[in-house]
Amino acid sequence: MMRQYELVERVRRYNPNTDEALLDRAYVYAMRAHGTQTRASGDPYFSHPLEVAAILTDLKLDDATIVAALLHDTIEDTDATRDEIDRLFGPQIGALVEGLTKIKKLDLVSKQAKQAENLRKLLLAIADDVRVLLVKLADRLHNMRTLKWVPEEKRNRVAQETLDIYAPLAGRMGMHDMREELEDLAFRQLSPEAYESIRARLETLKESSGEVLAAIERELSDALAQKGVQASVKGREKRPYSIWRKMEQKAVAFEQLSDIYGFRIIVDSVEQCYGALGVVHTKWPVVPGRFKDYISTPKQNDYRSIHTTVVGPGRQRVELQIRTRKMHEIAEYGIAAHALYKDNSPAADLLARDSNAYGWLRRTIELLAEGSSPEEFLEHTKLELFHDQVFCFTPKGRLIALPRRATPIDFAYAVHTDVGNMAVGAKINGKVSPLVSELHNGDEVEIITSTAQTPPAAWESIVVTGKARAAIRRATRAAVRAQYAGLGRKIVERAFARAGKPFSEERLSGALSRLARTSLDDVYAAVGRSEMRADDVVKALHPEWTGARAPEERASAPRGEGWFELKAGQSLKFKIPGIEADPDPMTAIPIRGINGDLPVRFAPNGGAVPGDRIVGILTAGEGITVYPIQSPALQDFEEEPERWLDVRWDVDEDDPQRFPAQLVVTASNEPGSLAQIAQVIGERDGNIDNLRMTSRSNDFTRMVIDVEVYDLRHLNGIIADLRSRPVVSSVERLNG
Ligand code: MN
Repeated sequence: MMRQYELVERVRRYNPNTDEALLDRAYVYAMRAHGTQTRASGDPYFSHPLEVAAILTDLKLDDATIVAALLHDTIEDTDATRDEIDRLFGPQIGALVEGLTKIKKLDLVSKQAKQAENLRKLLLAIADDVRVLLVKLADRLHNMRTLKWVPEEKRNRVAQETLDIYAPLAGRMGMHDMREELEDLAFRQLSPEAYESIRARLETLKESSGEVLAAIERELSDALAQKGVQASVKGREKRPYSIWRKMEQKAVAFEQLSDIYGFRIIVDSVEQCYGALGVVHTKWPVVPGRFKDYISTPKQNDYRSIHTTVVGPGRQRVELQIRTRKMHEIAEYGIAAHALYKDNSPAADLLARDSNAYGWLRRTIELLAEGSSPEEFLEHTKLELFHDQVFCFTPKGRLIALPRRATPIDFAYAVHTDVGNMAVGAKINGKVSPLVSELHNGDEVEIITSTAQTPPAAWESIVVTGKARAAIRRATRAAVRAQYAGLGRKIVERAFARAGKPFSEERLSGALSRLARTSLDDVYAAVGRSEMRADDVVKALHPEWTGARAPEERASAPRGEGWFELKAGQSLKFKIPGIEADPDPMTAIPIRGINGDLPVRFAPNGGAVPGDRIVGILTAGEGITVYPIQSPALQDFEEEPERWLDVRWDVDEDDPQRFPAQLVVTASNEPGSLAQIAQVIGERDGNIDNLRMTSRSNDFTRMVIDVEVYDLRHLNGIIADLRSRPVVSSVERLNG
């Protein structure tokens, strides 16, 4: 294990002004706090935060970051508190450690909705101070390096989260080395056979071509030196994961990959970059289509370099990256290279805030502030995380930046929503191409439009930009309206049958003016949306009819049979796609439970409470069933997006209603534990409706409690209280 003075020494090497006493105090504090805790490897637990700190010294980070790394697991795993850390190390470090504690609890590979919410929390935690992310990445890197000590059943989850979230985040922040190592470690865990086979092939290749790397290095340096370009040339072999990804993307075999070897030419100035490029391009034939100038057009994460491939010494294809030393530093360390907080000077901070990577973070956070739904947010963020960008141009030369794998449809919507809606074809670089083609960097795209065109709903699954997807969804709302009209017609038919009157569309057409509508479809849609009561439609033809069924007929189906109907006075607001002329794309339509004719009910065992995100599933002739978004039952409707309705709560705050939810509680078997649980729920004004023991061991009892609560906050309060009781070992919401 690294000694105290060794850590200080590492920091002093790049930061002579380091606060040695602060580092020492943190070292001792963390070591004492973790005490005799051990890792699964048998090492003292403290070796972990120490290694994390060491990783960060490689990135040459400031004292606060190193100290936060030493302390990062103390609040969660020891008796240490935020207050104490504030007192001993100052509030800045306290905030960093607390941020790290928060994100530790996030589970980023859970169900979509929860994952989105957690990703949002993660970004919020790192938005205030990017150093939280830097420590988190180092923490994850060390955990991935020591993955074999993580319990078997957790390894895949940790690796998947690393590959899905942390590696792309590192990449997005420009931390290339970090990204590659994280990816490789995750790949080895998730696809051990693929990893092993690629590693073995690399090994064989190295044996057969042994000296090639060194020979090419030498020849490149000599050629550059002859022309007076001072450069350092370094060859490197790609990592298994990046080779694997290329094989997947291009669907080629290992042997067909030309660029296993890459070389970096590092020079002092931008002029020398182009000088070196000139030398390379005159000496060896260029492989067409491989030249990219990220110096004049940097990538979004601030990456700058010239990329080119030549048929180099020994007829080998050689991939070259040409960059300055400064660009190299940014390429390797990304946002960590920005001298970010290194001297705590406002100028350094400003510089960091100017960086594109930081800008991306800020924009993403702003998106959150605009209150987009977690799913939309995830769609947006994931796309930005996972796909690099492609830059395309309109015929007039306007630059349109799109995520990789974008299509001309995305391009069209990026230009203008109308262009997207009217697109019927595309020309890419002058050539007529399918709208579903994948766009590439530098493509010039011309969209062919037609005036009478509504986008096919299937485009929604083809496009990759959130903007295009949203526009296509909006444009298909006419179809949703037809759904409503269909539903409304069924309801009207039933109303006539109930009233014992004949149903005739012909006669109804004659009564349109009395209903203040211009077409039957309008009437049906209005009923379907519950803007009009079906009974009123009957009355328009039969004014003498008194309407309204007998009250007992309205009694709701007993809950035991699986349906929970809205009680009188309870209401929901339906958010559905609005009509064409509506300036607000979404229109809220209140649905009154039992007072309306539109049957609205909760799914059996749905357990949605106000505050939960809910969706309605439309069943023609039956009405709308409301599910919480996390309900597994929704999977059955995944193939039928036209049946999904956005539904919002509209609870009367002056007259709160109770809604049923279910909790799964595991408690230790000791006298009075059940009484304690009941007491907590009672004190919190929760209403226990039912309680079942589902399993019982010597030490623990697992039970399902049906509890009636007013809303999500109320429920979460009860859950938090329960969790704080020593007899309770876990509380989870069923379907929650
Ligand atoms: Mn840790």
